[in-house]
Amino acid sequence: MSTQRTTREWQQADSAHFLHPFTDHAPLAAKGARIIERADNIYIWDSEGHKILDAMSGLWCVNVGYGQTALVEAAAAQMKQLPFYNAFFQTATPPAIELAERLAQVTPPQFQHVFFTCSGSEGNDTVVRMVRHYWASLGQPERQVIIGRNNGYHGSTMAGASLGGMSAMHAQGGLPIPGITHIEQPYWWAHGRPKGLSKDEFGLVAAGWLEAKILEVGPDKVAAFIGEPVQGAGGVIVPPKTYWPEIQRICDKYGILLVSDEVICGFGRTGQWFGCETMGSRPDLMTFAKGVTSGYVPLGGVMVSDKVAKVLIEQGGEFEHGFTYSGHPVAAAVALANIGLIQEQGLVERVREDVGPYLAEQFESLRDHPLIGDVDTCGLMGAMLLVKDKTTGEAFPSELSVGMVCRGHCFGNGLIMRAVGDRMIIAPPLVMTRAQVDELMALIRRCLDLTLVDVANRGWL
Ligand code: PMP
Repeated sequence: MSTQRTTREWQQADSAHFLHPFTDHAPLAAKGARIIERADNIYIWDSEGHKILDAMSGLWCVNVGYGQTALVEAAAAQMKQLPFYNAFFQTATPPAIELAERLAQVTPPQFQHVFFTCSGSEGNDTVVRMVRHYWASLGQPERQVIIGRNNGYHGSTMAGASLGGMSAMHAQGGLPIPGITHIEQPYWWAHGRPKGLSKDEFGLVAAGWLEAKILEVGPDKVAAFIGEPVQGAGGVIVPPKTYWPEIQRICDKYGILLVSDEVICGFGRTGQWFGCETMGSRPDLMTFAKGVTSGYVPLGGVMVSDKVAKVLIEQGGEFEHGFTYSGHPVAAAVALANIGLIQEQGLVERVREDVGPYLAEQFESLRDHPLIGDVDTCGLMGAMLLVKDKTTGEAFPSELSVGMVCRGHCFGNGLIMRAVGDRMIIAPPLVMTRAQVDELMALIRRCLDLTLVDVANRGWL
């Protein structure tokens, strides 16, 4: 247990020693980090005693909510029994085997094998090496190129950040690595609406960008396409329903592997176990992390379809790749308890049939707010776009960071909602009730109203 300290003391120690991910440290040091001390259900509490509704599930991961003792007990029991053993020495542990078996049951039928990692980034690094090894094993080593999307997010490792299309990330550290290229994202508001395309028409146009890129690179050089069913970190960009089936058709046409990054969309988030099921694709590989353990301990992995596994197993020889913690028994035990809880509580069905549609209805009602230009939801993820003029759709100048102004009001009023540019996004725990959706919507309206007054007072309208 940590010693008890004041908030100020925690903040001083934090800025003296802790380098945070994705953080500009000078302003953070001036302000001091918010210290989160405990959590229960969908709420967290900071060191000043404030109760906050966590509409981001931590970082898109606490699907079963906080305070689930079944997960705690599973971890403790496994730590006592066998805290660690590896899977390198032609050895395996019962929880890792059982989890592999359980994942084969809950994922789409083409998946019977899993490669375990500790995070989503490592999962996507594994994908890069695995798809290239797959093609080399089939005698086509020239198939190296993997196509991702601008504003996609696939992690922070060298390969993960390269697959992703975040220009600010590419600008640091010499990315992307060779053999990775990108197409535009299926973001209707930015690409379709100004051209007068309906969402469905735009979905086909956006998928067509993949075909154009394949032809540009040369179909015999392309190994795979990777995408998130719904782009999460990019701003909860829900693609038109025509998009993924068309992507699937194009991948089939050119014999290219389709990789679904399910790190956010997996384990019920979209109202099916996996986002590809909601969006209508049939991936060859699927990356997962986050919701597999609801973030209680780190775990990730790659689901490998029969088509790929057959080649790897029968022709691939040794795959020179793996992590100390691949198949960590404690993480596997927690994942098993977590999946058990999702099943027992029928969380996927609740998202699909009850609380997801209810959230969608509530989000639609936000369209009457003067600041809201558009809303999108998919299962229990949602986005609202803040605009300067909702009749013309005119955006605020990006340098005003209106999203951050809104996020500040959320922070000050007991709500964690994230800003991606001027898109305000949520992905709350799947255990959320309708009454809690009402509570969330009241907070959102209040914060939007405060933002409106603030923006008007600054003369930005
Ligand atoms: N893929 C997606 C779609 C993600 O959202 C993330 C993390 N937000 C990752 C990969 C990377 O996962 P991790 O942070 O566990 O490495």
